[in-house]
Amino acid sequence: MDDRLFRNVMGTFATGVTVITTEIDGDIHGMTANAFMSVSLHPKLVLISIGEKAKMRERIKKSKTYAVSFLAEEQKEVSMLFAGQLKEKREAEFDRLNGMPVIKGAIASLTCNVVAEYEAGDHTLFIGEVTDMRFQEEAEPLIFYQGKYRGLKALKESISS
Ligand code: FAD
Repeated sequence: MDDRLFRNVMGTFATGVTVITTEIDGDIHGMTANAFMSVSLHPKLVLISIGEKAKMRERIKKSKTYAVSFLAEEQKEVSMLFAGQLKEKREAEFDRLNGMPVIKGAIASLTCNVVAEYEAGDHTLFIGEVTDMRFQEEAEPLIFYQGKYRGLKALKESISS
């Protein structure tokens, strides 16, 4: 089974883009992630999948909490910042939800306590029980599809062409 083919096939699953945040002793760490899903309504559970090389993995294991912010279309640079794709370091702007850092200007955010974690190949799955959530902005979502950032309009055009 070919790695490139697997990546290409997975890349045809269009997703939104989130930034996962966690905080240890006042030190905020953020990471761009699209491996996010809603799991359960009663109780309210979500899931994220973090690669073994990501610093975020050890941080969440320690903090036992994380927040998820859904990025708006105009937040491509925020996604790039927290994916380590920008050459220069930038200050990030955070809001607080339930005392936890979330991304300013995101469409919606939620905070979680980790209730389970599973090692799955080269990733760790963190199941989070939602402790708070809110809509922040009326905006179109940032989309990630075939390895590129897109908006909904561009996505429709690429599918119909
Ligand atoms: P680092 O690489 O050290 O940090 C990430 C970047 O965020 C750095 O540039 C750092 O300077 C910046 N940063 C962190 N905290 C702050 C702060 N407080 N203020 C300002 N800047 C800060 N990987 C996964 O494991 N799972 C996924 O689901 C996933 N999905 C992705 C989806 C997309 C669209 C992209 C582009 C990447 C995705 N990645 C995913 C890859 C992941 O985002 C990168 O590998 C990331 O660099 C790993 O972060 P890290 O925790 O190792 O920390």
